[in-house]
Amino acid sequence: MTDLYYDDDADLSVLSGKTVAVIGYGSQGHAHALSLRDSGVDVVVGLKEGSSSRAKAEEQGLKVATVAEAAKAADVVMILVPDQHQAAVYAEEIAPNLESGNALFFSHGFNIRFGYIQPPADVDVAMVAPKGPGHVVRREYEAGRGVPALIAIEQDATGKAKDLALAYAKGIGGTRAGVIETTFTEETETDLFGEQAVLCGGASQLVQYGFETLTEAGYKPEIAYFEVLHELKLIVDLMVEGGLTKQRWSISDTAEFGDYVSGPRVISPEVKDNMKAVLADIQSGAFAQRFMDDQRNGGKEFAELRKKNEEHPIESTGRELRKLFSWITQDDDYTEGTAAR
Ligand code: NDP
Ligand code: MG
Ligand code: MG
Repeated sequence: MTDLYYDDDADLSVLSGKTVAVIGYGSQGHAHALSLRDSGVDVVVGLKEGSSSRAKAEEQGLKVATVAEAAKAADVVMILVPDQHQAAVYAEEIAPNLESGNALFFSHGFNIRFGYIQPPADVDVAMVAPKGPGHVVRREYEAGRGVPALIAIEQDATGKAKDLALAYAKGIGGTRAGVIETTFTEETETDLFGEQAVLCGGASQLVQYGFETLTEAGYKPEIAYFEVLHELKLIVDLMVEGGLTKQRWSISDTAEFGDYVSGPRVISPEVKDNMKAVLADIQSGAFAQRFMDDQRNGGKEFAELRKKNEEHPIESTGRELRKLFSWITQDDDYTEGTAAR
């Protein structure tokens, strides 16, 4: 069993007298900045001029500066702008302000793994990657708990990079839940694979096909929505609590038998070959390049794919149904019916 690090293994005082610049104030940025601040760390948020996030950060009483100013003031620079913008922000505003012995932190290894950012040899390069969405990271911290996190050390210029990463993880609640050490390569490749093959890509496609199969057979869309999307959360909660075995323990014998006989018909062995091909494209950098090339082209392919998927009939069915649900609340800034994030 791999080592796990908890609160007792991390020393927040490693960060005392240091300034942490959190660059970006989105999903992860707001969670890191607020929780580090609440843990007693000196935080400055770095945002581009005219950033739409500025007011939100200031409202929370955080210091806000330009990315360049924040990077200059900081000993630790955590880059939490979207992956596709990190290289430009780094080159233009962070690199010129990095001093020897500073630390460059990430929550995902994408830009280091695929070489879009190449930091100088005299800075620490480390990762603290919470294994959950930013809004959950913050919610759990405020509740006195935490979301498990990964740390990784790519470059240990000071000899203290791991202590620093553990202290940072403690400051955002990660060591309350447990922290595992990995490498930038392992985190990047497994994270991309997990989200593409299973969590986001795989699950979304499974839900859409399930919905299409039922509605094309004449069943009501509202019923189909409940059966293939809404209940998914209930099943996944059981998996998280006790693995597939607890999920199968809780469902009816009918459901469990159907799981064994029909699961492998739907997700047939060729699906595993497809997964291997997806993994190969991640490892070779082909996926990263397709994503970054499209970004350089104004994100055209991305916008088309987003639009096409938002127009899937399960989305309008769900929007109407959720209006009637008294028990679902949005406790973040997500707005139904828009792609705005
Ligand atoms: P978001 O998309 O939520 O980040 C948005 C923030 O970045 C906003 O403050 C935005 O400012 C700012 N920003 C966007 N473009 C620029 C730019 N060119 N220059 C300066 N600031 C910019 O990012 P996430 O939190 O989703 O992701 C951040 C990192 O965390 C990524 O590496 C991601 O892989 C990783 N990660 C994310 C997780 C998540 O839960 N989302 C989970 C684990 C890791 P403005 O409002 O002005 O646009
Ligand atoms: Mg990811
Ligand atoms: Mg059922």
